[in-house]
Amino acid sequence: MTAGRDTLTDPQISTVSESASSDMELARARLERQISRSFDGNVLLLCKQCRSTVAALRFCTGSSRHFNPSGYLFHIGEFSRAAGVKAVGEACSADSWFQGCAWRIAICRQCQTQLGWRYESAATSDSGTFWGLIWNRLLKARRPDS
Ligand SMILES: [Zn+2]
Repeated sequence: MTAGRDTLTDPQISTVSESASSDMELARARLERQISRSFDGNVLLLCKQCRSTVAALRFCTGSSRHFNPSGYLFHIGEFSRAAGVKAVGEACSADSWFQGCAWRIAICRQCQTQLGWRYESAATSDSGTFWGLIWNRLLKARRPDS
C-alpha cells in the first residue's frame, strides 16, 4: 500500500510497506519479540519422543542452522544448560559447526533418542561448552504453575 498517505498516522507504516524485504524484516522482528517474550516465562522443552523435560527455554542462548556433511539441514538451539540430555561417545573435532569446539552426541536421558550435540571448547574454561539441540526433536510446554 503506497497510496493513502494522508490517512496514515504512524510514519513507520509508510516506510516499511515500501518493499517486500521490509515486510520480511517486520515479520522477523515480530517473531523475535514472541520468542524473547517466552524466555522470561516458564517454557520448557520436552523430548518429542518420550515427553521428558530436556531444558528450559530461558537457557537458550541462540539459534542457528547447519548442514551436516551429507547435506541434511539441522536447525538447532544453543543452550547453556540442558539437564535432560547427556553426552555420549568420544569428542570429535572433525566437521564441527562451531569453530574451536569438538562435539559429542547428546541423547535424551530417558529414551536415548539423539536430540543434538554437546559442544566442548578446546579452551581451558568451560564457558565455551554448550548444547546444540535440534528444534524439531523437541516439544514446547508451559511449566505448570507451582
Ligand atoms: Zn526422550
